Amino acid sequence: MSDCAPPSPCGKQYALRPLQSEALPALAAALRAAGLPADDLAEPGRSFFTWHDASGSLRGHGGWERHGSAVLLRSLLVPADARGQGHGRRMVEALLAAARAEGAEDAWLLTTDAAPFFARLGFVATPRELAPPPIAATRQFAGLCPADATLMRRASPRPGTLPVAVIGAGPIGLAAAAQLLSHGIEPLVLEAGSEIGSAVRAWGHVRMFSPWGFNTDTAARTLLTAEGWTAPDPDVFPTGAELVERYLAPLATSSALRDRIRTGARVIGVARQDFGRLRDGDGRDAAPFLLHVETAGSVEAIAARAVIDCSGTWHAPNPAGSHGMPAPGEPAAADRIAYGIPDVLGAARAAHAGRTTLVVGAGHSAMNAVLDLVELARAEPGTRILWAFRRPLGAVNFGGGARDALAQRGVLGARAQALVENGAVMALAPFLIDGITEAEGALAITGRQDGRAATVRADRMIVATGFRPDLSFLREVRVALDPAVEATPALAPLIDPNLHSCGTVRPHGEAELRHPEAGFYIAGMKSYGRAPTFLLATGHEQVRSIAAFLAGDVEAARRVELVLPETGVCSTDRGNGVLRDRGFIGADEISPNMGGSRQAQSGCRVGTAAVTGSTCG
Ligand SMILES: Cc1cc2nc3c(=O)[nH]c(=O)nc-3n(C[C@H](O)[C@H](O)[C@H](O)COP(=O)(O)OP(=O)(O)OC[C@H]3O[C@@H](n4cnc5c(N)ncnc54)[C@H](O)[C@@H]3O)c2cc1C
Repeated sequence: MSDCAPPSPCGKQYALRPLQSEALPALAAALRAAGLPADDLAEPGRSFFTWHDASGSLRGHGGWERHGSAVLLRSLLVPADARGQGHGRRMVEALLAAARAEGAEDAWLLTTDAAPFFARLGFVATPRELAPPPIAATRQFAGLCPADATLMRRASPRPGTLPVAVIGAGPIGLAAAAQLLSHGIEPLVLEAGSEIGSAVRAWGHVRMFSPWGFNTDTAARTLLTAEGWTAPDPDVFPTGAELVERYLAPLATSSALRDRIRTGARVIGVARQDFGRLRDGDGRDAAPFLLHVETAGSVEAIAARAVIDCSGTWHAPNPAGSHGMPAPGEPAAADRIAYGIPDVLGAARAAHAGRTTLVVGAGHSAMNAVLDLVELARAEPGTRILWAFRRPLGAVNFGGGARDALAQRGVLGARAQALVENGAVMALAPFLIDGITEAEGALAITGRQDGRAATVRADRMIVATGFRPDLSFLREVRVALDPAVEATPALAPLIDPNLHSCGTVRPHGEAELRHPEAGFYIAGMKSYGRAPTFLLATGHEQVRSIAAFLAGDVEAARRVELVLPETGVCSTDRGNGVLRDRGFIGADEISPNMGGSRQAQSGCRVGTAAVTGSTCG
């Protein structure tokens, strides 16, 4: 057999020649000398080849085992004097071309030390548990190769198969891409920002309350480890900037992902091709998705077989107005209002130093902002902090303190509560904002405090009242959302803050995230709609399950592979009324195992099976 395998230049006749059985002992000796397994060369189903350069000189050996439609590449060897000349790459391509010519599809291999080389050739490191049974049953997999050998797959190009579009290159979008690749599914990640992780970069100065051990995805770790990445200390708490620098950026530039991500690509519409939201028809579910993507001023249409919207909520903060709408005057005062967590000790220091800032909100973002302002006040005389809560102080949830299994999260709430109690910040609670005007170089914030009209003066506002999903570009897909939470109806009762304050959510995946539009999913922060509870680990489990389902592995999609830490505040018990009102349970049903508590319905069990999210709005 002769081969001019791409990308070697045709004309130069590199050649792949079948190895005769009498040459097997010599191959076995060469493999053993290189530390590669050679005990099973003569067993059935194996094919071995020699690789020759244009002059006919021997430049390598390689082979495969055929297992149904898959091949396991093996016994790849380039002699020391032939290395560094591209023979390994050419030989692998030639082997794959020859295997494909014989009908093989996906190629697999196991390697102990050459994963970066194979990653450059398009092989994707894959969690070992995702090996298809015939590959897992091979002698190489089951015993000849060490248990820590990296399993890699190169999916054969399937003509006409569209990629799965992933909207957003945040932590969950990138994890979705890694999960899809580990199933041999081609992802295309579309990121609106000029860089990946653009939302996390915006809160890069904030230290996370979950340590590294909770913050990375399994498939992403497998990809990265294959390329020489060293996982950060699992017990250390990174900042947002460190999450990008140590994890998201290396992941996005890995051989596996870098050509599958487009930055500066904002999705402005999603639909079924030729089927708007209204139109039924036999072909609807089979029609590909079409995404309208804005890139540098022009709009491009991109087709996809499925869509996972991981676009987060960071760019759609809730307003200060207490009715959910921006308060009259709020948009006009935008230059004095920051949403989320501005870096008051860094880039936003001058805006707050020596001035009065009104912080609005009760979640972790507000707590972080207040703590930073208090630190600023120590260094900058005249810095004053007002903190407005919508609830009476006694009803504010400052977290589980020492009972929180995420210690940093507990500490954050406890420190914030202490600042209120010792008067370091002035709490306005309850304070409901009705209007904002700019007068004499400051803001006059009008509203109701304890039911009485009140006006508060401040130089600046930090509005940390949570986020909401941007549904504008989903107008043409059939999404089903809970009317209050704006999460899927199956997920909403698990996370609705009206039902429980504990942030507990039982593990969930593809089934709970399904929409009437088959093949369309919202995952990550955005999947929680307006609920202020989301942990990266929850999102990783979501996209693991979705990717498994899209790969046809329904059993893996259903399997729950998530353990999350308790918040320590699972204490609310507001009865079953809201569940009934919202149609989550029937008129006569009460939650059986919590003595009527809604927490049971919402998965809010403190115990072995309960898992929790956290408040960060
Ligand atoms: C300050 C803060 C601290 C947090 N701390 C923790 C913590 O300690 N532990 C924890 O587990 N969780 C934490 N979270 C919650 C959550 O894990 C993060 O918000 C996380 O970033 C969510 O990841 P995501 O990928 O879903 O969304 P994002 O990180 O928001 O990423 C979404 C991406 O989509 C892009 N995008 C948006 N719209 C479009 C569009 N139309 N087209 C294309 N791209 C688009 C955005 O630019 C962005 O890059 C924190 C959240 C905040 C805000």
